[in-house]
Amino acid sequence: MNEKEKIFVIYQILNQSSPIDIVFLERRESFQFLISVILSAQTTDKMVNIVVKDLFLKYPNARELANAPYDEVCNIVKRTGFYRNKARNIINCAKELVDKEVPADIDELIKLPGVGRKTANCILGDVYNKGAVIVDTHFKRVVNRLGIVDEKDPTKIEMLIRSKLEDKYLYRFSMIINLHGRRVCFARNPNCKNCKLRAICNWKDDDNQEENK
Ligand code: SF4
Repeated sequence: MNEKEKIFVIYQILNQSSPIDIVFLERRESFQFLISVILSAQTTDKMVNIVVKDLFLKYPNARELANAPYDEVCNIVKRTGFYRNKARNIINCAKELVDKEVPADIDELIKLPGVGRKTANCILGDVYNKGAVIVDTHFKRVVNRLGIVDEKDPTKIEMLIRSKLEDKYLYRFSMIINLHGRRVCFARNPNCKNCKLRAICNWKDDDNQEENK
């Protein structure tokens, strides 16, 4: 089995056993979803889902958030961590998007304050239904263990995955790998004994195996 075949087999196995709809951050219209994803860095999706309820109640769109007092936004997003930077970024991002659509193009998305490739890919996949590879900590760990890539750099991982799987499968692949990382392939003590991918995984659950984060 070559690498392209292996990645597609993994896709098929996890696709069948995963829920049809995988939602980590609550779905929202494009601007609100973008802000939610920016806030999700270094915190849990659950916390973001709580915090954005207050945020969007007061500042539901780009125009409102662009004119929001910085200190007030800091207070609202405080629980997501790194809140000063996040408050600054989401206000500046809102300023860029007053009376504009959220871009559907990765090069335009990453020009926005607070938006890196991971956030941009979330928007491409979730909002625009385009091929997207979301390389977060779970994805990075799982694809390396599986042996689909041997790479730590998120952008290189994204490009490698893009070169091995058709565009139409990429977003779903991101979501099912992410879910697999949360539910089975844990950072510490992955549940290899109950993993559907065990037969084709490069990582063996040997006690002496160093953790491969
Ligand atoms: S066999 Fe173990 S290391 Fe490999 S994907 Fe499954 S849980 Fe992760």
